[in-house]
This record gives sequence, structure tokens and C-alpha cells, in this order.
Amino acid sequence: MPEALEKSTDYERLIKVFGVSKLTEEIINELPEVHKLFKIGYFFAHRDFDKIVKRWKEGETFAILTGRGPSGGLHLGHLLIFDFVLWMQKTFKVPVFIPLSDDEKYVFKKVKNLRDSEFYAYDNALDIIALGYDERWTNFFISTKMLDVYQLAVTLSRHVTLNEVKAVFGFTDSDNPGKYFYAVVQSAHILYPTWRKGFVSLVPIAIDQDPYIRLSRDIAERVKLPKPAALHSKYLPGLTGEPMSASKPETAIFLTDKPKEIKKKIWQALTGGQPTIEEQREKGGNPEKCVVFQWLETFLLEPKEAQELKERCKRGEQLCGDCKKMLYKGLVKKLKDHHKRKIEAIDKVERYFMHPVD
Ligand code: SF4
Repeated sequence: MPEALEKSTDYERLIKVFGVSKLTEEIINELPEVHKLFKIGYFFAHRDFDKIVKRWKEGETFAILTGRGPSGGLHLGHLLIFDFVLWMQKTFKVPVFIPLSDDEKYVFKKVKNLRDSEFYAYDNALDIIALGYDERWTNFFISTKMLDVYQLAVTLSRHVTLNEVKAVFGFTDSDNPGKYFYAVVQSAHILYPTWRKGFVSLVPIAIDQDPYIRLSRDIAERVKLPKPAALHSKYLPGLTGEPMSASKPETAIFLTDKPKEIKKKIWQALTGGQPTIEEQREKGGNPEKCVVFQWLETFLLEPKEAQELKERCKRGEQLCGDCKKMLYKGLVKKLKDHHKRKIEAIDKVERYFMHPVD
């Protein structure tokens, strides 16, 4: 496993570093159902998730806030979170808000112009809707088109200092002012369901993004709004063992990848296998360090099946080639079904979008 990834996966340490709370069995047992990503420990920490669940059980609703920066197509890592959020929507019957931050992608120079970002915003929305979201409970919006998000961002901007933004985002004097202002826009996205609709926001987020949640919680306190809650996830490693990234296409499977590309990427993926079949049979593999295993466990297998595969691997009864074939076949089928549903979503996409409110 690459050293950077190994360091970032010391999750007990990260809980301490970020000052978040561990997601305990006790909290998970309070849920009406337990999603696979809780069972395999993908979500492992939180801020006030226990309070959200407790209040929900007493009849108080909440909103889920999960954004997307539209500067390109989605990969399977993105879809994983939106799949989980869909499960939350169905299980808790709560509204979901999905800001598409064209402003962020423009000021950070990830797109040439706002129009390009708008194109990706609709394309990404189609992929997300294709998962099965309920239009009555789903609210996409394009950040620069929402007047009341802008008004909220301006209101919040008086309650945060430049020094705080610099400390959280690591900006310097040579960064453009759009980046600084986007910091409050991001808090406006997070606090929008609370400010406009009265629902406390729950944000599922990777652990390294927690400083943004902390800033939004501080601002919420200053403007006397309830603080947003967060569910923190681990990092699902990319196929090569590095983090998934659009700039390194070999690390991820994009929803537009053709079967041939998928095969090539999976065949080059990092495993925990021995150098030869003979050694694999004799010594067994190391599924704990195997990306192919983590992908099978996350995207395709039920926890019991994953556990059995793990045992077979350790006993030397499983070969890496067979695991790769299983992953390839499963993902190609998943994407084929997805494309069909994406086409069906085209006619109804507008119904999922919020429009400017003055
Ligand atoms: Fe990973 Fe499968 Fe190889 Fe074991 S046999 S190391 S689980 S790819």
C-alpha cells in the first residue's frame, strides 16, 4: 500500500486529529435498518449523528446535504455516496439537497467557463437521478443560479473572518477573491435547508473534509441556526492504491468507461496476492491490503460473501485472476444497467431542480 494512503487510513488517529466522535455499535443499532456501508465500517465517525437519529425517532425530520462540483463525469466512488444518500432518503423519508457548485469549479479553474460547468451539472444530475431518487424529496440546484443561496452567503460572510477562511482552506494572498467567497457559499449550501426550510442538515463527507463542516458549525452558532451534523467516511482507495482522481484515470472507473477500459484498469489493479500461483496456494493472500477485495466488498458483495472470500484468500484457495474477473463482470453489468436508467431520466430531469427564489 502506498505510504500516503497507509498514513491516511489510521482511522483511530484521524478521529483524534479532527476531534470527531466514533460511530459506535450503539448508535448504529438505533437505526431502522443498517446499510452495508455501516456494516463494513466505511462510515466510522460523526458529529451529532446520534442527536439527529434521536430527534428523528421523536418525529423531527432532517435534510441530507451532499454536493457535487461539476467539472467532469462521475466515477464509481462518487456514485457510492449518492447510492448511500438514496438509501437514507428511502429509509428516513427525508429531503435531499444536492448543490451543484459551478462557482467552485470556475474559481478553482477546473472549467473554462460557467457554461461548461452547467453542462456537467446536468450530466451529473442525470447519473444521480438514475439511481432512483424520488423527485418529491430531491432538490438539485446550480449554485450561481440560486439567488437565495447568494443572499444567505452574503449574510453569513459578516460572521467569518478572512483569517478563519485562510486557516481552514489554506489560501494565500495570491489566491483569487472568488475562492475566499466560495468558502462562505459552501457554508450557505450546508445551512440552506436549515435557513430556508427549518431542517437540520446532515452531511455525509470524507473525513479530510471535516474542517469545512467545523467552519459551517461555527458560523451556524454565530447566526443562531442549529449546527449541521456530519457522517464521516473512510477513503476507498483507487485501483492503483492511490486516491481516486479524475487526473489519474487509471485509479477510478468512470461511468462512461467502456468494458475494454474497465478490463485494463482492473487487470492492473493492486492486489494482496503472492507473486506466483504456487506461492498464493501455499501462503495465502492478504485481503486487508488488497484493493480488488475492497472494491468487491464495497460495490458487489454482501458482507457475508465478502467474509467468505476473505477467508478463502487467506487459506490460499482463491486466486487474484478469479477476483479480478468477478469484479470486471459485476461492474460492467452495473454500468450497463445504469446507462439504461440514465437515458430514462432525461425527460424528467428538470423536475428535480430547484429554481431561484427571491
Ligand atoms: Fe485480493 Fe482476491 Fe488476490 Fe486475495 S485472491 S489477494 S482477495 S485479489
